[in-house]
Amino acid sequence: MRTLFFALAVALATPAAAQTVDRLYIMDCGHNAATDQSRWSPGVNVGKPLELSDNCYLMKHGAQWLLWDTGYPDAVAEKPVTGPTGTATRPKKLADQLAEIGVKPGDVTFVAVSHTHGDHVGNVDMFPASTLLIQKAEVDWAFAEGKRPPFSKDRPIKPLSGDLDVFGDGSVIVLSTPGHTPGHQSLLVRLPKTGYVVLTGDLAHFKDNWDNDRVPSMNTDAQQTHASRAKVLQLLTDKKAQLWINHDKPTSTGQKHSPQFYD
Ligand SMILES: [Zn+2]
Repeated sequence: MRTLFFALAVALATPAAAQTVDRLYIMDCGHNAATDQSRWSPGVNVGKPLELSDNCYLMKHGAQWLLWDTGYPDAVAEKPVTGPTGTATRPKKLADQLAEIGVKPGDVTFVAVSHTHGDHVGNVDMFPASTLLIQKAEVDWAFAEGKRPPFSKDRPIKPLSGDLDVFGDGSVIVLSTPGHTPGHQSLLVRLPKTGYVVLTGDLAHFKDNWDNDRVPSMNTDAQQTHASRAKVLQLLTDKKAQLWINHDKPTSTGQKHSPQFYD
């Protein structure tokens, strides 16, 4: 008994090495043919069109699934949306891509969203039983009086105030990275062969902006944006992590998409 207690005490005192998720699928969650790149890069490439990818990322952790971002609404597949900044299209529905690999919305334990802009939360309501991982600051901002709610609040929500080790084993860490919006977050994922990956959300919209530490004009806080980038930059070094910029079309084009996966 005493030996067991001792072993237990040692186990509790020694932090376990980070475990991994089993696999990660990149799902095509839409495209944006933007008319003016400088919306995201003030003063740079003014009036130049820009193609942006929009991905969702589905991770398997044992018997559980976690979906990171939900993209444009699936309805955009039938009816592209043209707004003042460009045209959104959806070559494939998220629902169809999930079905293709045999995952039902009810199988998804956690939905985590980088932030509440429409190209990231378009299908949150497809997962009414999943626990939504979102910063409290983002909920407060998105559901402020007079604003159009981005999704139904009548659902399980885990409001966060900072980072979260989702499975308690270091395999998926929600990173608080405010600046683009008040409760913007990114995701650190560890895969068995691929290693560590940081999913940016909209911490940067494309590589040139990341490299030059540019702050888009629509960001809610420039100083927070710089600080959040510095936080992730440190992680890239510490964890030898790859940076996957969601909207960077050249990055996305070079990646495997579902039903292929990363492990
Ligand atoms: Zn955004």
